Amino acid sequence: MNIIIIGIQGSGKGTQAALLHKKYGWPHINLGKLLRDHIIRKTELGLVVKEYIDKGRLVPDDLVIKLIKPVLDAADSGFILDGFPRNLAQERFLLDNYRIDGVVLLDLDDETAVKRISARRHCSVCHTDYNLLINPPKVENTCDLCGGKVVMRDDDHEEAIRMRLNKFHLKTKKVIELFQERGLAIPIQADQPVEVVHQKILDQLNL
Ligand SMILES: [Zn+2]
Repeated sequence: MNIIIIGIQGSGKGTQAALLHKKYGWPHINLGKLLRDHIIRKTELGLVVKEYIDKGRLVPDDLVIKLIKPVLDAADSGFILDGFPRNLAQERFLLDNYRIDGVVLLDLDDETAVKRISARRHCSVCHTDYNLLINPPKVENTCDLCGGKVVMRDDDHEEAIRMRLNKFHLKTKKVIELFQERGLAIPIQADQPVEVVHQKILDQLNL
């Protein structure tokens, strides 16, 4: 199965992709992670990507496609695609070259997303993740593992979160509309327990 998963931060997108990967073994292809990986390994394309990112510029579509195409081509039993496509040009490349079985849209209203994201904390020493809503440290502000101070990331403050959410909506609106036109969009209410969302995804994809 070739699946795309789209959802705002806090929608549980990474968790759902991981559950699908665990159950079916299809690779979870995350564009952001792929770009970072190329930069870390200092590949030829990675060095070019880094130049764009360092200048605060968008990585051009032809470069993104050059990076993602071999990964998609190698995934011959299926893939779970995350963070791509980001615009219509990338979406057309995908639709023209691959069979897409379904596009899971994890719907979460902004208020719930803000609540979930602003509850995130991490240990300032060993970087273990916590969430005050679902997975708080046993002792307030103190890491269970190393006793380090548990803090909020700067970019998890409400104003920064709202800016990211607005940017996401602006960027994905047209992408989602085209998937809807093609009859591929599968909206799933993400404000439910992880297991319930997972089961709904399986039902909708006839898995
Ligand atoms: Zn720690």
